[in-house]
Amino acid sequence: MADKILSLAKRRGFVFPSSEIYGGAGSTWDFGPLGVELKNNVKRAWWRSMVQLRDDIVGLDAAILMHPRVWEASGHVENFIDPLVDCRSCKHRFRIDELPDGERLIDAWRAGSVDLSSIACPRCGQKQLTVPRKFNLMFKTHVGPVEDSASVAWLRPETAQGIYVDFENVQQSARRKIPFGIAQIGKAFRNEITPGNFLYRSLEFEQMEMQYFVRPDDAAARFEEWKAERMRWYVSLGIPEAKLRFREHAGGELAHYAKAAVDIEFAYPFGWKELEGIHNRSDWDLRRHSEYSGKDLSYFEEATKDKFIPHVVETSGGADRGTYAFLLAAYDEEPDKEGIRTVLRLHPALAPHKVAVLPLSKNEKLTPLAREVWASVRGHVMTTYDETQAIGRRYRRQDEVGTPLCVTVDFDSLEDRAVTIRERDSMAQVRVPIAELTERLRERLPGC
Ligand SMILES: [Zn+2]
Repeated sequence: MADKILSLAKRRGFVFPSSEIYGGAGSTWDFGPLGVELKNNVKRAWWRSMVQLRDDIVGLDAAILMHPRVWEASGHVENFIDPLVDCRSCKHRFRIDELPDGERLIDAWRAGSVDLSSIACPRCGQKQLTVPRKFNLMFKTHVGPVEDSASVAWLRPETAQGIYVDFENVQQSARRKIPFGIAQIGKAFRNEITPGNFLYRSLEFEQMEMQYFVRPDDAAARFEEWKAERMRWYVSLGIPEAKLRFREHAGGELAHYAKAAVDIEFAYPFGWKELEGIHNRSDWDLRRHSEYSGKDLSYFEEATKDKFIPHVVETSGGADRGTYAFLLAAYDEEPDKEGIRTVLRLHPALAPHKVAVLPLSKNEKLTPLAREVWASVRGHVMTTYDETQAIGRRYRRQDEVGTPLCVTVDFDSLEDRAVTIRERDSMAQVRVPIAELTERLRERLPGC
């Protein structure tokens, strides 16, 4: 399954390995013409549901480079580390949690009492692992021409901190009262030692994060609300409920900032893996930024005359791993008279192209009308045009990239000024007047 998606992604222009003509850059990916449309649609659907359709959330686009103290306050300089060991025999490198019984070893490492002398290398079987050393997952760079400790800057490993440091600016300029949220979509970077599984874990990725600021006594209830809401969002865009589940984090695996955490997991071909995290972060973030910046970020509530540091409920999703999940969930094969029909059953709101305009054949009599129809539709929805090869082949090509509707212009169209709409999923066809085409397409494209 993963192989089929990988091959489809490359062949049809969804995703390419970065810098492929140089042999690839390793765990970095480029989104091709169809991929950028799909991923933009995922982000647009998220923004629509999290910002546009709500009266309690506003948007933000913070800079990737931030003051280095931000990452001390956030705990990332100290805590955002992987424990790594090397095998002296085969030279392979592992994170401790990749070793047999990894979770127990991680706990022991956190407690400062890990002993790897009896652990065999999963690669070569020798018991020659080094003692663990700490490796910070943040990419380090320097601002200005001098590479010294005073010029250190980090590529942000999450977008959330931009929201926290702008909390007061947003709250006051947008005149928001608690509870309210700030949403952001943006790139983040993590120097993962063991990236992999295609788009699932890459060095550079895009997050869709929302921080919801609440009263301390409201956090637990909001956490439950956001769990339900975020699950609803994935289902509403076509991921079957059977492929989604919640997984609560046990006490020992909670991140340094979290009071409670749950993952929404998706059934990837390599197992159940996190698609999105929902976290009750308590007042950790704003309290730490108050301490480190010297700026009091507490909030005064008019109605109750209470003054408090807001607590945060966070929803943190990945645009790339989300796009991958939508692709996997949509992929379908069904037998037909020519063998196998491959269909991406993408929700219309996510499909890269909503409509393909296809003249029955490449013919000088049909082309002008087909182009006229194309021009009338493309101002309304994302549309493509294809006139090469047999019409059956072209339908299959559109099915394979998830185009929900094809519009066919045939020789009768020249006489009756009508065209045929063909639906991707049912393959049903219906004849409609060109004058009504836009309206008929709209009815069939909810949420586009
Ligand atoms: Zn080894």
